[in-house]
Amino acid sequence: MSTLFGGAAAVSARGHGMTSQRARDRLVAALREEGVRDPRVLDVIRTMPRHLFLDEALASRAYENTALPIGLGQTISQPWVVARMTELLIEGGVPGRVLEIGTGSGYQAAVLAALVDTVYTVERIEELLRKARRLFRNMKIANIRSRHDDGNIGWPAEAPFDAIVLTAAGETVPRALLDQLVDGGVLVAPLGPPGAQRLMRFRRDGDQMCSEELEPVSFVPLLGGLG
Ligand code: SAH
Repeated sequence: MSTLFGGAAAVSARGHGMTSQRARDRLVAALREEGVRDPRVLDVIRTMPRHLFLDEALASRAYENTALPIGLGQTISQPWVVARMTELLIEGGVPGRVLEIGTGSGYQAAVLAALVDTVYTVERIEELLRKARRLFRNMKIANIRSRHDDGNIGWPAEAPFDAIVLTAAGETVPRALLDQLVDGGVLVAPLGPPGAQRLMRFRRDGDQMCSEELEPVSFVPLLGGLG
């Protein structure tokens, strides 16, 4: 994967306009090869300037299909995983209000915001949240609400949500999040210990949760308390 994006493409991603566009087109081709099918998701990845969500020193690598550091021990998720989780969230119908736990760089929230009515995103590290908010403002993305808090408690004041996505991995899904999902709503999360995480999709059916175990993934841990 990363070899696809070495040399010329990596260098050209530093530029703007057509050069970034070429790098994004190649990323979309790589995602397709890895099984991402939803054209709505691929279209958003094709236009979303991922380099803006990274520090300048790493911007040249923005269109590699890899996770990259964003400071404070955290990472921007791999494009494949962002695309896959988005696809899983909208497969049965595009949700209106989506809660994301783990704003991080803001990239996943921005991708979702291009598809759904409103994204509610919670981040425990204030410095990351401040950066992400500034980006949303500069990019004129008006349908993201964000909150500095421990995502384990969700966002009770805005609940319930049509869909929920966790971008940090715990051993189980916090009870509060399941309670904040509408009946029929979908929750996508990485679950399990480091080295053995799986992407999971849950669908709420009354008091029951149906679950599907999907691909192996690798996320930073879902922590407790504030950063
Ligand atoms: N969605 C992000 C991925 C960031 S990595 C992106 O697109 O860039 C996961 C993020 O989850 C980190 O920023 C981390 O600080 C945050 N996180 C971990 N535990 C959390 C918790 N309990 N509540 C809120 N955010 C949390």
